[in-house]
Amino acid sequence: MKKLSILGSTGSIGQATLDVVRRHPQRFRVVALAAGSNVELMARQIKEFRPELVTLSDEDAAQRLKERFRELTVLSGAEGLIKVAKYDEADFVLSAISGSSGLVPTYEAVKAGKTIGLANKETLVLAGELIKRLARAPIIPVDSEHSALFQCLQGHRRENIRRLILTASGGPFRGMKKEQLKHVTGQDALKHPTWQMGKKITIDSATLMNKGLEVIEAHHLFEFPPENIDVVIHHQSIVHSFVEFIDGSMLAQLSLPDMRGPIAYALSYPERLEDILKPCNLPELKTLSFEAPDLETFRCLTLCYRALKMGGTAPVVLNAADEMAVEAFLAGHISFIDIPVIIEEVLNQHKVSQIQDIDDVLKADQWARKKFNEILEAMN
Ligand code: MG
Repeated sequence: MKKLSILGSTGSIGQATLDVVRRHPQRFRVVALAAGSNVELMARQIKEFRPELVTLSDEDAAQRLKERFRELTVLSGAEGLIKVAKYDEADFVLSAISGSSGLVPTYEAVKAGKTIGLANKETLVLAGELIKRLARAPIIPVDSEHSALFQCLQGHRRENIRRLILTASGGPFRGMKKEQLKHVTGQDALKHPTWQMGKKITIDSATLMNKGLEVIEAHHLFEFPPENIDVVIHHQSIVHSFVEFIDGSMLAQLSLPDMRGPIAYALSYPERLEDILKPCNLPELKTLSFEAPDLETFRCLTLCYRALKMGGTAPVVLNAADEMAVEAFLAGHISFIDIPVIIEEVLNQHKVSQIQDIDDVLKADQWARKKFNEILEAMN
C-alpha cells in the first residue's frame, strides 16, 4: 500500500490523481491533501478519501473547513503546505501545485526523502541542480511529455540515445502570424484544442512558453544538453514525445490526451495499472501530423533555450517574468505579442548568478517581478 500526499488536490492534476486512487483503493491510500481555497471540493475529497492531515493556503477557507471537520487536523498558509509536503506518514508526494508556488513545498518533500511524482515543472525549471543534489528518492515525471520520455527510456543505455524530442500541440494559435495575434484575447487563448488545464499553463501553451519550460525540465530530469532536446508540433496530442537513438531509430509513447495515464504510471512505476486509459483506436485516428515550430512568431520557446544556456538564475527570471506577463495579458494590460517582448527585456537586464540555495531562487524571482513592473510601467 503506497501512502500519498497530494499537493494541489483540487486542481486538474490533483483531481485526476484522486480518480486513479479511486479505481485502485487496494494499492493507494491518501494520507494528506493540500489545496488553495476550494472548501467545497476539499470537503468532498475528505469525505471520500479520509486523509489524516489537510491544509488550505487561504486562512479563511481553512477556518471554514475546520468548522466542518472538527476531528481532523486542518492547517493553513505556507506552513501548513510544508507540513503536508513533509508529512511522516506519506512515502509518495504528488506535486501538482501550479507555478512557482509549487517550488518550496516540493523542495521540502525532496529534503524529507519522499519519492516525488512531479507535475510542477517549475520545481526543476527554477532549482533543477539544487533539487537533484538533495534528492535521495526518485523524482518521477508526471508532465505527459516527460512521462513519455521516461517510459521510452526504460531499459536503454544513456550512451545509445542521441536526442529527446518533445511534442507540442501548438495551442489554439498554431499557424497564425504576428499580425493576426495582435488582437487575440485571453478568452481566445484559453480555448485549448486538446488538453483541459489550468489558466496559466493554457496561456503558456498558446505562446509555446510551456514547451520551453518543458525543455528546461527535460534537461534536468534526463541530463541532456539543450542542443540535444528538440520540439516538434503535433497538434493531435497523441504522440507524447520521442526518443531518438544513435542508430537513427526512434521510440514514441502514444495515448489519448488524458493525464490519468502519466499520473498512474508515476504512482505505480515500474509496474502498470489496469484500465487507466481508453486505448487509441488507430483506424479512427487516421493521421498523425508533425511540423517544425514557428520560432519567429512564438518567440517564448527560443527565450527558454536562451535562459537554459545562460544558466544559474536566468530560468528563474524567465519564469517569473512569464508568470507576470500571463497575468497582465489575462487582465488585458498587455497584448499577446507583448508577452515575449517583456520577458526578453527582463532577461536582457538580468545579471546571472549561480544558485547555491533556495533563497537565491526566491531573490531572483523577486528581482524579476519588480523589473517586470518597471518595464510594464515604462511601456504605458
Ligand atoms: Mg506537458
